[in-house]
Amino acid sequence: MSALIELSGVSKHYGELLALDAVDLELPEGRIGLLGPNGAGKSTLLKSLLGLVEHDSGVVRIFGEEVRRDPFEIRARIGYMPEGDAVMPELTALEYTSFAGELTGLPRPEAVSRAHQVLHYVGLGEARYRRLGSFSTGMKQRARLAQALVGDPKLLLLDEPTSGLDPRGRDEMLALIRDIPERTGTSVMLSTHILPDVEKTCDHVVVLARGKVLYNGALGPLITSEAGVYEVRAKGDPGGLRKALELGRCVVQVQGSALEVKVPEGEGPQYVLRLALEAGEQVRHLAPLKKTLERAFLQTIERAG
Ligand code: ADP
Repeated sequence: MSALIELSGVSKHYGELLALDAVDLELPEGRIGLLGPNGAGKSTLLKSLLGLVEHDSGVVRIFGEEVRRDPFEIRARIGYMPEGDAVMPELTALEYTSFAGELTGLPRPEAVSRAHQVLHYVGLGEARYRRLGSFSTGMKQRARLAQALVGDPKLLLLDEPTSGLDPRGRDEMLALIRDIPERTGTSVMLSTHILPDVEKTCDHVVVLARGKVLYNGALGPLITSEAGVYEVRAKGDPGGLRKALELGRCVVQVQGSALEVKVPEGEGPQYVLRLALEAGEQVRHLAPLKKTLERAFLQTIERAG
């Protein structure tokens, strides 16, 4: 089976600025997080998938088809929620969403009926006859998600969909995003600079920085620690335990009140306990170190220089 999204050698300049630098990517169906700091090239990448920016070189394929050949046909199969919270304030949520449906090529009656369905789905059923200008930011973002979903897309591209939301609004939006592939079989690509958003919703991660792909793979391995690294907490002051572990050839880093301990090759957690016992130190907590996505992200960027 061909990949959902394929980029090969894709570069894009804006004048002198290189926004995408020979990007090669093959992405499966599912929930994909596109993660990177501001200015990394994420929006440019999404727009090149849609054929909205013309790349200078390389090939972009979606659903196995080259986007350049017929961008209109490809766009009809993609839902897109651009960055920002712009809506047409004078339209009701229903008018706005139906209009978006017609733009994807649905006949009017079908667009209206789909609009009712998706507005219910995003939690705006009761508010669908209200004008968007009267909506809170959270409601506007839901309406923008509804317009991206109305054409029953095979792929949904979401550019910073939680921006401007309060923690509750953000959690609700993320729950919807998580739910979409299971409900409808639609694949989702979520572009964001917010690591926990990706951690909560995605199975596959692409890390982009300065237009280059630094990581492309499953989320799991990225945040699973290397073998032989443990989080260790001492009872009381960790100084003595740290010394004992270092004497036993462990590599120790202090992380707040905990120690991050890499044991010598071939050793396991028992080794930490034995060294502690021999030195008369007490261990209160010992577990394989779980990396946060933030840490994995920083390490990935550091490794890339
Ligand atoms: P991200 O979405 O990761 O924040 P963008 O794709 O928006 O990154 O931008 C990547 C780089 O390209 C940034 O340095 C940005 O300033 C620049 N850029 C984006 N769009 C344009 C444009 N239309 N004209 C000139 N520079 C642009």
